[in-house]
Amino acid sequence: MRLVILGASGAGKGTQAKALASHFGLRHISTGDVLREEIKKDSIVCRALKRLMDRGDLIPDEIMLSIVEVILSEENNFILDGFPRTFSQALALNAICERLGAPIDAAVDIHVPDEKILQRLTGRTVCPSCTAMFHKEYFPPKVTGVCDKCGGGLIQRPDDTAETVQHRLKLYHKLTEPIADLYRRQGILISVDGTGEANQITQDLIKALEERF
Ligand code: AMP
Repeated sequence: MRLVILGASGAGKGTQAKALASHFGLRHISTGDVLREEIKKDSIVCRALKRLMDRGDLIPDEIMLSIVEVILSEENNFILDGFPRTFSQALALNAICERLGAPIDAAVDIHVPDEKILQRLTGRTVCPSCTAMFHKEYFPPKVTGVCDKCGGGLIQRPDDTAETVQHRLKLYHKLTEPIADLYRRQGILISVDGTGEANQITQDLIKALEERF
């Protein structure tokens, strides 16, 4: 099964992608996590990528496409989280999948109002070691600043400040939101309200996907 998951950062894509990957036995590919892992290397190229990411800007399509093409040539069952993010990435993804003879089966689109995204992201802390996420108010770790899962130190992502989140939301509405229409026209779009309880959203998505396959 090949899935993509759409929605603004903070809509719950990562949480749902992990749950669906575990349920259906898919590889969870988060392009944000792939990039964050890369920039730990601290080369000049990585520092340039980090600067764009910390500002909330997008990495150029050509770079993202080269990365995704390599990953997908090694993987047939996946859920792509954070890609595609622009219309041209979506068209290129379709072309890559066509070349590999493995089309995208479904696109999940998670809707959450901007005010809620802002609340979620500005209160979010993440574990750079295992990628687990927490929220200062809604989902605090047992010990402040320490990851429940691996004991690593929690940080606030540099792109989770209020100003940068506003910028990312602007880019999302302009560049990413229109992609849903492409998948709607292909008849493979599943839209969900992302404001409810995470486990319930997962169950609804599993049901919708199982009805399709
Ligand atoms: P995320 O973890 O999905 O919120 O992504 C964090 C950052 O990584 C984004 O704000 C972008 O700078 C970069 N990024 C991740 N995926 C993509 C993509 N498909 N296209 C361009 N930039 C991306």
